Amino acid sequence: MAEPLRNTDDGHQAGNQAGQQSGDQGGNRTGQQAGNQDVARLWADVVATARRTVADGLVVGTSGNVSARIGDLVLVTPSGVPYDRLTPADVTGVDLTGRRVLGTLVPTSELPMHLAVYRTTDARAVVHTHAVHATAVSTLVPELPTVHYMAAALGGPVRVAPYAAYGTDELAENMLRALAGRSGCLLQNHGTITYGATLDQAYDRTAQLEWMCRLWLTASSVPGLTPSLLTEAQVTEAGERLKGYGQRR
Ligand code: 13P
Ligand code: ZN
Repeated sequence: MAEPLRNTDDGHQAGNQAGQQSGDQGGNRTGQQAGNQDVARLWADVVATARRTVADGLVVGTSGNVSARIGDLVLVTPSGVPYDRLTPADVTGVDLTGRRVLGTLVPTSELPMHLAVYRTTDARAVVHTHAVHATAVSTLVPELPTVHYMAAALGGPVRVAPYAAYGTDELAENMLRALAGRSGCLLQNHGTITYGATLDQAYDRTAQLEWMCRLWLTASSVPGLTPSLLTEAQVTEAGERLKGYGQRR
């Protein structure tokens, strides 16, 4: 993978370069341009994924955020900007300490959560939403009851991280504890966070998590009946089987 474009002085100019592959990069021109193209492509994917969360009803307005990592650069959605307004020139990137290295927009307020995931896992993408069924479940239980084997797709029973104010280090710490051995968790009275090796995988885990929460709410709302739950062994078995799920390449 080519080294991504870095800017030191004028972030917005670098953002434009990443979006339009322009600029004279001197002796390192070829490698640098490939890097710019990688960054531009990944930014387009970040924006497309963020738009998808809205189109699929997982996010209302700008209440969520998306990021993806390329090398030591993390591209993030900017705070409070409707995703349909984002252009290639709005590329926003930070390093793993949170220092802005691309663009001029203020990065998502949930940078502590995104960076905590990248620092402690092999994640390449992170998706955070306020999906309604998942958020409802986060107010009811400390862990999503295992009504479905797809819990295995997130590493096992999905925990709820205790509440802390949005955008805080405390929330990031609570999230990390809830994420141990998992690729997603709920955030109490707040929403979801999932990560993956790609933006599609992180997105899909959010969609599956929201679906499982909806399933549990639906099953547990039938008066006089209680949903059956899978055992730990059944979830583990499903996890093993899921390793071979889908098409062989
Ligand atoms: P941002 O617009 O800053 O990304 O915040 C949205 C959010 O979900 C905060 O928890
Ligand atoms: Zn949020």
